[in-house]
Amino acid sequence: MKIYGHDKQLQIIREAAANERLAHAYLFYGMEGIGKRLVALEIARSLLCPVSAPFACGECPSCKKALHGNHPDIFLFALQEAQSIKIDDIRMLQEKAVLRPFEASKKIFIVDNAEAMTREAANALLKTLEEPPPSSIFFLITSRYHLLPSTVLSRCQKIGFTPLAKDVLTSLLVEENGCAHETALTIAALAGGGVSLAKNMLEGDIMTRRASLQGALRGLLLEREKGVFDFVKVLAGNDKQETQKNLSIIESVCRDVVLFQLFGKTADIINRDWLELVEEMARLFSPLAFVNITREIEGASGALRFNVNRNLLLETICHKIIGAWEW
Ligand SMILES: [Zn+2]
Repeated sequence: MKIYGHDKQLQIIREAAANERLAHAYLFYGMEGIGKRLVALEIARSLLCPVSAPFACGECPSCKKALHGNHPDIFLFALQEAQSIKIDDIRMLQEKAVLRPFEASKKIFIVDNAEAMTREAANALLKTLEEPPPSSIFFLITSRYHLLPSTVLSRCQKIGFTPLAKDVLTSLLVEENGCAHETALTIAALAGGGVSLAKNMLEGDIMTRRASLQGALRGLLLEREKGVFDFVKVLAGNDKQETQKNLSIIESVCRDVVLFQLFGKTADIINRDWLELVEEMARLFSPLAFVNITREIEGASGALRFNVNRNLLLETICHKIIGAWEW
């Protein structure tokens, strides 16, 4: 299993294993959708490999079982959104934790979305963490660290995860999703290092959406008032979620224009394939105008959560854009 990024986090645990200083419980925290669970699974596989622990050989029966998700000593507890981890779930886990490992020297328990534990569940788990069974290691994973009780947090060694670097996410999208390099580069930048977000963007056919947005934005700049209708139509998309995504693309373009005005053509520009349009907009508007437009877009994104008239909201943004130009 190839892990993209997170080298430091992997190294911390491998070093601890090599020095026989593994903690009984780890807390992996950081932004959602960046690969924390994958790292925990890879670590589980590595720690249990009888051939080359703390690295997975990838060839032995233990490594193969772990890869296929059927190793009897690796327990993954993962939830769908909007559910909670109940006390019975934790009890089931505790019953398994007190037994000796079936095949390996250790048992690994991975609890994803640990913040979804009810208070009773967290208290039950706390007892296990206070008196950990000798051969069990727990990995709690969360993107909402602050929702976990401090008593649980204090029993875990905390390891923070950061979004992937742009070049690492670009390679992932090229190698795993067969994405063209230029497209991958743009999506990696738009997703801010979030793997799930980038993959969602790919599935949502973001490049087609961007192309329509680019056309409509050009129309708006060229025809002003006459271009408003088409721009609003494209920006609105089919539903609120699409509007939200489209607004964040326009926001990223505004950010690029300001960057261009300040530093010229820099590597930090997200929409590199729109450079011509970015340059044109940089000529037409003042940096202050973009600060204002960005603020409007942020306001609109927030307002979308409520029951507002989407078209009216978007028309206002269009007029702000046109108005800012004249100003
Ligand atoms: Zn192995």
